[in-house]
Amino acid sequence: MNEALWQETVNFHGHVCPGIVVGFRASALALEILDKPPKKLDETHIAICENDVCGVDGVQLVTGCTLGNDGLIINNIGKFAFSWVDKKTGEGIRILLKILPWPSNEPLRLHRKVKEGTATKEEKQQWIDARGKRGAELMQLTDDELFDVQRIQMKIPGKARLFPFAVCTKCGEAFMEPWAGIEEGQILCGACKP
Ligand SMILES: [Zn+2]
Ligand SMILES: [Zn+2]
Repeated sequence: MNEALWQETVNFHGHVCPGIVVGFRASALALEILDKPPKKLDETHIAICENDVCGVDGVQLVTGCTLGNDGLIINNIGKFAFSWVDKKTGEGIRILLKILPWPSNEPLRLHRKVKEGTATKEEKQQWIDARGKRGAELMQLTDDELFDVQRIQMKIPGKARLFPFAVCTKCGEAFMEPWAGIEEGQILCGACKP
């Protein structure tokens, strides 16, 4: 395992948890299977993440497929699965976590309380301890124990993400035209249109 890259991933994400371990390990496995160096996979591949939580940070840091460089699509259907598809050939791999990220839902109830601001100080600490412990447990497992790897074929059409700019007649801020609204002949931005 690339220990330096793991440390960098934890620093980037901010904590150890099941999600970041899964995202890191799936990304490292993808690099191994595709025989590519870290952080440059966006040159040839697009990542598709089937969730929008912690593991996505691992995908972005380890493979370099980021939301901003058009190397990452979030197709959030709540699964811990990550794919990388060759932009030219459409050939890819899908790496699915085949065990449950959490063996019990109890820690997730704590998580909800923490997020909603109703957890006590002790409960908050319990949550932090639980996610760190479960993350460390998952880190000990082999790739075979963690993942199913499938070969996939998928055409991802390229599309423009930058558009001509217009200026909102109400707030005066510039924005890209597809988000424009027209009211009484005036161009309005997404925040000002009714
Ligand atoms: Zn996390
Ligand atoms: Zn406006």
